[in-house]
Amino acid sequence: MRILLTNDDGVNARGLMALAERLRPLGELLVVAPERPQSATSHSATLHKPIRVQPAQVAEGVTAYACSGTPSDCVALGLANLACGPVDLLAAGINHGVNLGIDVTYSGTVMAALEGCLKGVLSFAISTGAGEGKTGDELGLAAAAEFAAWLCGWLQEHRLPEGIFLNVNVPPLPLEEICGLRFTRLGRRRYEDTLERRVDPWGRPYFWRGELLASREEAADSDEYAVKQGFISVSPLSSDLTATAALAELNKWDLPQQWAQKR
Ligand code: MN
Repeated sequence: MRILLTNDDGVNARGLMALAERLRPLGELLVVAPERPQSATSHSATLHKPIRVQPAQVAEGVTAYACSGTPSDCVALGLANLACGPVDLLAAGINHGVNLGIDVTYSGTVMAALEGCLKGVLSFAISTGAGEGKTGDELGLAAAAEFAAWLCGWLQEHRLPEGIFLNVNVPPLPLEEICGLRFTRLGRRRYEDTLERRVDPWGRPYFWRGELLASREEAADSDEYAVKQGFISVSPLSSDLTATAALAELNKWDLPQQWAQKR
């Protein structure tokens, strides 16, 4: 099995190292990850400047590259140029911090998995509440890595429906304290942006963007709730963003006819 690994926290992130170390026995690993942290860069692609890569050290005996591009660039580059053959699986993570609800659209890690899915590769993103310097870090990352290894085997055997990839969130707990696994949908989160206005030493105003989680949904079938309850959350995501139900609804309207008459 040939597995491509990436993330958005950068090639030096401990989550990526934990993942590479745990997946190493499963097959041939290739790591292509951003040279610097690229959280919240979503699915962005570098089109107007060169993308550079250089060898990196992530885990003993694993080929790894640090890439100047975005997580999505890393996946595209890994699949098209750096892998020595077809890639069977793409794993993005382990992200430092959960990726729940609408946050998946900001996440470079989750959108790296989308990129893999779009290229026809079995793909998943994995995140945990553990991260750089948080308490219980080592155990949280170890549990997530353990689940990722198990999931790789399961995906190899069962595959996924076309155009579907997985968003996995692991509670920041030691493996034996995790309650189980739930399939979930993305819960609703609402943010209030804080855009602090400050003034630089030359008297010019600038803004610093942060965010305040205003509310989160806690319905029993949501990803948010599962993780809060100590379960591993696995949400299937679709690379097709069309709101199919709404399309059927819109087709009942006579908007096209009205537009034709107006012209
Ligand atoms: Mn991140």
